Amino acid sequence: MASLYSELLPLDKDIANAYQKVTKDTPGGLIDKAGAGIIYQKATVGPVSTQGARLEALFLIWDKASFAADGLKFWEETIVSALLGQGTGKLLKTDAELSDVMNALALASTSVDFVSPKLGIAYNAGQYEAMKQLVKDRKIHIIQADGKGLSKGIAGIYVPEANALFLFPTKKAIGTLVHELTHAIQDWNDLKGLDEYLETDAYIAAGIESRKRKGSFPKESPLFDSVEMVAAGKAKVTNPDWNGTPAKPGAYDKLAAVLAADPDAVKKPGVVRDLSIGETGTAEKQILAEVMKKLAAASKAAPPPAAKPTPAGVSR
Ligand SMILES: [Zn+2]
Repeated sequence: MASLYSELLPLDKDIANAYQKVTKDTPGGLIDKAGAGIIYQKATVGPVSTQGARLEALFLIWDKASFAADGLKFWEETIVSALLGQGTGKLLKTDAELSDVMNALALASTSVDFVSPKLGIAYNAGQYEAMKQLVKDRKIHIIQADGKGLSKGIAGIYVPEANALFLFPTKKAIGTLVHELTHAIQDWNDLKGLDEYLETDAYIAAGIESRKRKGSFPKESPLFDSVEMVAAGKAKVTNPDWNGTPAKPGAYDKLAAVLAADPDAVKKPGVVRDLSIGETGTAEKQILAEVMKKLAAASKAAPPPAAKPTPAGVSR
């Protein structure tokens, strides 16, 4: 137990001390409901400036501490409700539980490769591999939530302030996971931009992955032109057919306008979102840069992977 205490200490001293006190006083070191309440209470007082690190401390306890049944129930309900408004959920931990997410990231890593013409970020293998590492390192948290109080169609939500991806009990489509994990890339790169551009990029990324996996993309989709332009290598920032002007919109601009008009796709059209807000006490961009550097070094050191056969029906 001392090791978890020492891991908690740099994140939040009060939470670490409450954790130590509670687990020492309880037989077997289990956190029961009363103990969980005492620890959680420490996260709700004091300056907001430590919010990001405090959330990390709460997730670390969720991941590694030993709970009594009533303590775990309290923890799950309290954290999910604090972040989503209501409901409860289970933190996914094992490789088996995380396999859908890891699989989606692996597929995105081998298919998605484009630069956002409006936000400037490159969505590519390096970014998706880094997200895999962050999930493995428990820096991105995956929660299977009950979805209580949310509209039925929603399959997932990424909450940037908590680095948490909530999955709901609808069908777990690969496309949903790629879309939401693209929001994770945006968050860890501390992007700032119009909501419609953040969403357009996430839709395009999921569209490209789907096109590669299925061999084609449905013509009737509003995403069709954008996805095909990326696939054809024409999605260049300097190409006016892709990245146009208000007077002469390109494919990307047209898609952004379609999505901005759909309240299910873009919640706040015309509003700039700053994905570095609410994360004081954590250094996401720096952590991401270190992860990407390590992965790049490891891939240079490792022998090249054996060539994979091209799946039938996929030409690129
Ligand atoms: Zn989205």
